[in-house]
Amino acid sequence: MADKSTSSEPTTQATPAQTAEAPPRKIYPIVKYGDPVLEKPGAMVKKFDNELEQLAEDMFASMYAAQGVGLAAPQIGKSVQLAVVDVSNGKNPEAKIVLINPQIIHAEGEVREEEGCLSIPGFRGYVVRPQFVTVRAQNVKGETFDIRGENLLARAFCHEIDHLNGVLFLQHLSMLKRDLIKRKIKKMRKEGEW
Ligand SMILES: [Zn+2]
Repeated sequence: MADKSTSSEPTTQATPAQTAEAPPRKIYPIVKYGDPVLEKPGAMVKKFDNELEQLAEDMFASMYAAQGVGLAAPQIGKSVQLAVVDVSNGKNPEAKIVLINPQIIHAEGEVREEEGCLSIPGFRGYVVRPQFVTVRAQNVKGETFDIRGENLLARAFCHEIDHLNGVLFLQHLSMLKRDLIKRKIKKMRKEGEW
């Protein structure tokens, strides 16, 4: 989220098209647990246009603003198979990954680690995820690629792909833990704190 130049001097130099056309990013509010959009599968993305590319960039900006390492389109109220992941928290531009219509094609090993979700703020729980996964997805141009993730990246892939299928991390918790969290959220919602 580095500021663009704030100089008041008008630039007469021709700027590269990419920079000149880059619109200010939209920061979407994150949809919270209880909204049905989070619990239904997203539609396949079929149109790979500039609008989709801009949406993905807005999702990165929204994710960084919320200090997350992954964000799925249903979490901004859009029920489509699009997710962004960056486990470097925006520090490494090469760590930005856009997953469109993704599928896990290989999984290996198991890691039990605490996990949270931007749509369920304040609650965490231990979830077993594969240590390694290979995901097949499309990029914003519609090109198919495979990407392998390990540990946190594998976890982020699984968590975001779950979102695209309408699945929340709560569903991976024990029934006891899940019901406890659901009860607390219900109470918070009644009190207008959710
Ligand atoms: Zn989540």
